[in-house]
Amino acid sequence: MSAYDERPWLSGYDEGMPAEMTPEYASALEMFRAAARRSPDAPVLKYFDGRITMAELDEVSDAFAAALLARGFAAGDRLALFLQNVPQFVIATVAAWKAGGIVVPINPMYRERELATVLTDCGAKAVVCLENGHPVVSAAVPGTAAELVVSTSELEYQTRNDPRIFSSPPRVRPDGTLDMATLIAEHRGGRPPEVRLQPDDIAFLPYTSGTTGPPKGSMNTHRNVVFNAQVYRDWMRLGPNDTVYGVAPLFHITGLIGHLSLALLLPAPLVLTYRFEPLVAAEAIQEHQATFTIGAITVFIAWTNTAQVCKEDLSSLRVVYSGGAPLPNAAVEAFEKKFGHYIHNGYGLTETTSPSHAVPLTKTAPVDPDSGAVSVGVPAPSTVVRVVGEDGRDLPPGEIGEIVTEGPQVAAGYWNNPEETANAMPGGRFHTGDVGFMDEQGWFYLVDRKKDQINAAGYKVWPREVEDVLYEHPAVREAAVVGVADRYRGETVKAFVSFKPGASATEEEVIEFCRQRLAAYKYPRQVEILDDLPKTVTGKILRRELRPGGAVNQ
Ligand code: AMP
Repeated sequence: MSAYDERPWLSGYDEGMPAEMTPEYASALEMFRAAARRSPDAPVLKYFDGRITMAELDEVSDAFAAALLARGFAAGDRLALFLQNVPQFVIATVAAWKAGGIVVPINPMYRERELATVLTDCGAKAVVCLENGHPVVSAAVPGTAAELVVSTSELEYQTRNDPRIFSSPPRVRPDGTLDMATLIAEHRGGRPPEVRLQPDDIAFLPYTSGTTGPPKGSMNTHRNVVFNAQVYRDWMRLGPNDTVYGVAPLFHITGLIGHLSLALLLPAPLVLTYRFEPLVAAEAIQEHQATFTIGAITVFIAWTNTAQVCKEDLSSLRVVYSGGAPLPNAAVEAFEKKFGHYIHNGYGLTETTSPSHAVPLTKTAPVDPDSGAVSVGVPAPSTVVRVVGEDGRDLPPGEIGEIVTEGPQVAAGYWNNPEETANAMPGGRFHTGDVGFMDEQGWFYLVDRKKDQINAAGYKVWPREVEDVLYEHPAVREAAVVGVADRYRGETVKAFVSFKPGASATEEEVIEFCRQRLAAYKYPRQVEILDDLPKTVTGKILRRELRPGGAVNQ
């Protein structure tokens, strides 16, 4: 027994939030089916002027599931989604579950090599992409197990009450790529055989750098998804009268749970815009009278700093949460001053299926007077979070150590990677790699990271991935990548390189080399050329010394 087993954070809950919670459905598919039966006419997706009801989503996802099954997709297969925030993301997700499959959400900013790495690791059978992502997909697919490439158009949902996906004429693509609208039209009225997914089945397989090593697939089960959708519903007090604005990318766990799964559970309309633009997003909130959103802090900072976005535009919002990256108190205050909304902090990881902690709706977060850190909140129901020292023992309140989380939201492990699973989640206790403490009342604070991960406005960058690209540059002898402070993103990527004897390149050339091979948020914005990189006696490059405040930077 330690302070954590007694769960002092329960005092931080608002009334109505239970200490324990059990998933109400065996799977996210069952959750969707129950909601579709309850509210067939409820609009669940809104995009431009188009909208889709639960009954239509049921029908169109049946058709897409039947189409996938007819082309060899089978239970347990992975369906990769290389998509922005478009309705097809949600249709394909429900369809994948109906076909007994697993959804692999992939950042559509990825370049060919990044996409190929994920497709290879998960062994995806099929990929769905937008037309503009098609060139990257067709370059990445050869050599992987993917047999089906399905392409779709962003414009499919432009006409109110007449989603073209129901009516568009069949299109044939010369390169063998299948067209999503055509597949759906062909199988319309078809029903896939009913599958019964189990709580331990994998619903989502998002890739994350985790605490160590290259990207790994986090096996987020149906139990995890149903549980955390309920956590959102009950903690943020949301119901069918709410409208969710999907500001977070759907390929990231925050969007998958806080937008997609939540909207299916309530059910409530999910308003989607292709990707975040401050003005378009504010217009969407205003037009659809959205009441809830959760995004990374950069979104709220952008609204604060965009003069054309005024208080009136965001006035329908009732509940606002931020997650995925540190929340500076100054940004919370500036947003509240302009819009009158308090931003609640939420904390979690891909491996905790989005939030493990949040600031209860009726509370404001305490701020640690020493570090200035805004509390990330208190743990979710049925969850025990410890702060452990180097020796693995629980530390008393106030002492700083690694955050270790245990509860129904912790993923089943990493795909095909029992070793990393055993390291990160021994006995189901997930070692987050985040460093922080708990105060006497049970509020948690993050102060540092054990892992080398860089957090660029919620987008996570693993230095090794960038270093691997740098080493491919013909002039580079040694490379090391660290995060440095950035006014807008919180952190950004900086590379240190040394050159082979007789070889050289300019900083701009090195940046351009990386830019062509990595997603926009990953390539280094700064490059510093050194004669030699700092190393241990055994020759290992010391990234820590290169960080701001490290020996090289003093
Ligand atoms: P991801 O797996 O992409 O969701 O990234 C999880 C990481 O984001 C965590 O390990 C934290 O380092 C960071 N993070 C998430 N939420 C917060 C928050 N509210 N404050 C500070 N860092 C956060």
